[in-house]
Amino acid sequence: MAASASVKKTALAEPALAEPAATSALPVTKAGTLSTALARHPALADLTGSLRVLTCGSVDDGKSTLIGRLLWDASDLFEDQRATVTRSGRLAGDGENPDFSLLVDGLAAEREQGITIDIAWRYFEWGSRRLVIIDSPGHEQYTRNMATGASHADVALLLVDARAGIKRQTRRHAAILDLAGVKRVILAVNKMDLVGWSEASYRAIADDFAELARRFGFTDAISIPVAAPSGDNVTRQSAKMPWYDGPTLLNQLMTLPPREGRTSGPFRLPVQLILRDGRDFRGLAGTISSGSVKVGDAIRDTISGERARVSRIVTMDRDLKQAVAGQAVTLTLDRDLDIARGAVLSEVSDPPRAAKELVVRLVWMAETPFDAKTGYLVRTATDLAPLSEIDILKRLDLETLVAAVSDTASVNDIVDVRLVPGRAVAVDRFSQAPGTGAVLIVDAVSGATVAGGVVLSASEAASIDDGTVFRLTRERLAAGVCKDLTDSERDTEEFARRAGEVAILLRSAGVPVRLDL
Ligand code: GDP
Repeated sequence: MAASASVKKTALAEPALAEPAATSALPVTKAGTLSTALARHPALADLTGSLRVLTCGSVDDGKSTLIGRLLWDASDLFEDQRATVTRSGRLAGDGENPDFSLLVDGLAAEREQGITIDIAWRYFEWGSRRLVIIDSPGHEQYTRNMATGASHADVALLLVDARAGIKRQTRRHAAILDLAGVKRVILAVNKMDLVGWSEASYRAIADDFAELARRFGFTDAISIPVAAPSGDNVTRQSAKMPWYDGPTLLNQLMTLPPREGRTSGPFRLPVQLILRDGRDFRGLAGTISSGSVKVGDAIRDTISGERARVSRIVTMDRDLKQAVAGQAVTLTLDRDLDIARGAVLSEVSDPPRAAKELVVRLVWMAETPFDAKTGYLVRTATDLAPLSEIDILKRLDLETLVAAVSDTASVNDIVDVRLVPGRAVAVDRFSQAPGTGAVLIVDAVSGATVAGGVVLSASEAASIDDGTVFRLTRERLAAGVCKDLTDSERDTEEFARRAGEVAILLRSAGVPVRLDL
């Protein structure tokens, strides 16, 4: 692991660099550069070559301690930051090492409650690699933040307590990572000291995790046995666990390649604002969510299908010839398009859907369960549209990891849902273009966000009240795909599962379906 000799400081980091501390476990720490300062807009910053690491685990699994220890060992912390830890006199749960979580749990309220309240972005540079730590909350009620943070991550660091292993909450996190398209997952099996550094305990958890990774199709899935306060297998190979010959956590984070950039996707500009100067200037302003655009390119409005060419790409300080994902721009066109906030401009050959029906996978975030009588709205990248229908189709069972037909959703449930907006909305499938493929569900009366998730499929065909809806009835299923099933409890469950599968398959092929069981 070669570290560059350059020492960079971020704008937010003021004090002089501290001498590397005696406790530093890495031989070349001097070259690593750190800022634990919160990045102002890290999602928008130029993060080429950087790896965005989402941390998740249940409260008390040791997330803050692990990140604190990583910062302590692998980066040039400022003197006052190290002093926070040494002067406090607080010890970690192993009773020997300082409480490194103090480096991470900076917020007073957070310390009082003992939980991490919001996603905190921290980053540090090690040689040519910048690690951006997205610290997601462990508490169930904060799942919402995790769902939002997850979509920015290159890799997830999932934590478990070696004494407890893979829990329901771990499976939930895995399902949310899957939903948010985070496919690379590192499992840190923490608190190995509390199981006597036992290889057997670790292996059992690693096997469970391998199964979970297979189920969700995670790639580069690896488990690492660690002890956060003492730093075993965090930045240095543990002498206590000679049976483990895999990489340390830091090593793994340093060698993973960053995820492919958003600039390689299809061009998408969700319009936030129409700018006029009262005379002839009319600009369409927004942040490019995927791909790139050049002056002279033909673009298309998703809903109307109207086309135009880009005349100018205007930014705060100058005109550009080309702009890419992440940049906030104002486009002027060679002809006026009659569009408003909420429109999505795209390249002509590969447009989003003008969706009249969608199937989405959501994390239900509100304490109030889904209620068919409540009015809901759907929020896309920049649009907000009323929903004329919303049906829960399936709910993921966190014990079996099977999605079974269901019409309910309560807090933290992961559900597949059919939406019929009151008018067409411009969306992509999430796997195609994440920036325009995510949605929020909003309570129409309170304005509160009740669920968030991703678009699995979107159909341009209207399915309501026009006689073209395919009714998938019990009789039809019993005569065909479920012919072999009996009335046993097990078969009834299987019946429902197949019904859901058939409906999803038909819908993803663009056939509007109603389940009448
Ligand atoms: P978080 O809620 O996941 O951020 O957990 P913390 O980092 O605050 O850790 C919770 C408690 O577990 C603290 O008392 C830590 O000192 C302790 N702890 C964390 N990691 C370890 C470990 O590897 N071994 C032991 N013995 N205690 C640990």
